[in-house]
Amino acid sequence: MINLVPGKSLLKFDSQLPLYNWLYPMKGQDLDTVTHGELFTSVDTAYVRGRSLYFHIPFCDTICTFCTLNRGIGHTGDEAVEAYVQALVKEVAIKARHASVTALPITAIFFGGGSPSILTAGQIRRIGQAIHTHFDMSQLREFCFEVEVKSVTEEKCAAMRDIGVNKVRFGCQSFDPTYRRLFNITASVEQTYAAVEMFSRYFEWTSLDMIYGMHGQSFEQFSSDIEQAMALGTGTMELYPITNIVTQAPLHHGYAAKGLQPLSFTHKMAMTIYLNQYLRASGWQQHNGHGFLRLPEGHVREPQFISRAYTNIYNEYCWAYHDLDLIGFGSSAISQVDRFTVMNDENRVSYTKRLLEEDDFRINVSVADDLPWARGLVLRLPYFGFVEKSLIPWEHIPAEMVDKLGRLVDEGLLEEDEKEYRVTELGWIWYVDMMYYLSPADDQRILDEFVELKDRTRGITDGDRRTLPLTPIGGGGTAGAPACGTGCGSAARPPARVLQGAV
Ligand code: SF4
Repeated sequence: MINLVPGKSLLKFDSQLPLYNWLYPMKGQDLDTVTHGELFTSVDTAYVRGRSLYFHIPFCDTICTFCTLNRGIGHTGDEAVEAYVQALVKEVAIKARHASVTALPITAIFFGGGSPSILTAGQIRRIGQAIHTHFDMSQLREFCFEVEVKSVTEEKCAAMRDIGVNKVRFGCQSFDPTYRRLFNITASVEQTYAAVEMFSRYFEWTSLDMIYGMHGQSFEQFSSDIEQAMALGTGTMELYPITNIVTQAPLHHGYAAKGLQPLSFTHKMAMTIYLNQYLRASGWQQHNGHGFLRLPEGHVREPQFISRAYTNIYNEYCWAYHDLDLIGFGSSAISQVDRFTVMNDENRVSYTKRLLEEDDFRINVSVADDLPWARGLVLRLPYFGFVEKSLIPWEHIPAEMVDKLGRLVDEGLLEEDEKEYRVTELGWIWYVDMMYYLSPADDQRILDEFVELKDRTRGITDGDRRTLPLTPIGGGGTAGAPACGTGCGSAARPPARVLQGAV
């Protein structure tokens, strides 16, 4: 449980949630299994303002130790990859039989993984052709393709550009040789520079992913990573604090072998503040919880803390207002349409087999009691830094949530005028805790249980999450105890009564 701490302090919550994104809502949903036909003939699109598409390519040449995405080993030209592409194209055709799928124009498309760049140029073109055949692309604003720099070629870039891709996103994570080895990153830094130069000739935008807050990382190492990331020359960057509780045990064994200790969350928070100030001083501006835009030469910085000049349009459909929806294709892809959340078969082998052998089949669906009316406030506002009040269905928003918004304004985390709520510079530091705070109690409980489950996972180390109190209260308590040496992380957590007492 994380609590808001009122008062004149920068420390606004008593601990930090060790997660950075999740779906909303998580509670109040019944599980069902239906066919695509049954699902998409029940979907009501009358209220939908916009739609995006997601395509999951679950193959990578090598596996990074920090990664928790749904993926496995697969290489360019493999038979399994070709069968998967055939299944994906068929899934597009099956879903596109229904007007509720094709009636709306598509605003954004995202190819994620895995490493979509392991596809051949021909496979990229075939999937692209299926999309263009079945969907209205007249209002497409963003088509983003994740790439891994070892597997991308000029021929593949040309195929991506030809199907409409205007943005590529790739991970560098760190330039430090120690962390690159611990992460099992096998591309060289030279390959990364060469790839960025190639992307600049094909795409409007290139975005770079970096990670910080690794065990033992010093501010000097962090500064060096920021400097080198800026020097790559991409237009945008996404920098994430590492989410230890969902990374892989081998990474933590690697840390232990090198004697690298987890950083406390207070340390990570200081890195986050430092990062923002460093990039602001260097001509960048934040555009969401993790993303930064390189401001054009001579650009006058916008008055609000979070930039409005640029956004990841696809992400606006994930952490979205209630009336923006998302349809996913591929194994483990998620769709959020109407009251329904669908997660495709997580096993890419059975996903492929079923699609290739059957014409339609039953899929797992979560059915919510109602539309996710509050999603714009719970997820979008903290992550993107503002919501337009006119786009929130206030008649469906519980009074308790309106009270919480008022408390966040009182505490200086949000500001409001008649048109919008905005996250302040102070609020941005706490945006994840604000997402948790604005969630209904049932969703908070699910998040708490998930974190506790992960804490019990053997071999995973994480830093002290408390921000208050920083010293033991009342003597005899365990609040100031050091992190557990066994690696379970649980002894570092104070008893609930201490946290409650701090409020
Ligand atoms: S390349 Fe990307 S998807 Fe593949 S293992 Fe590494 S981080 Fe995960």
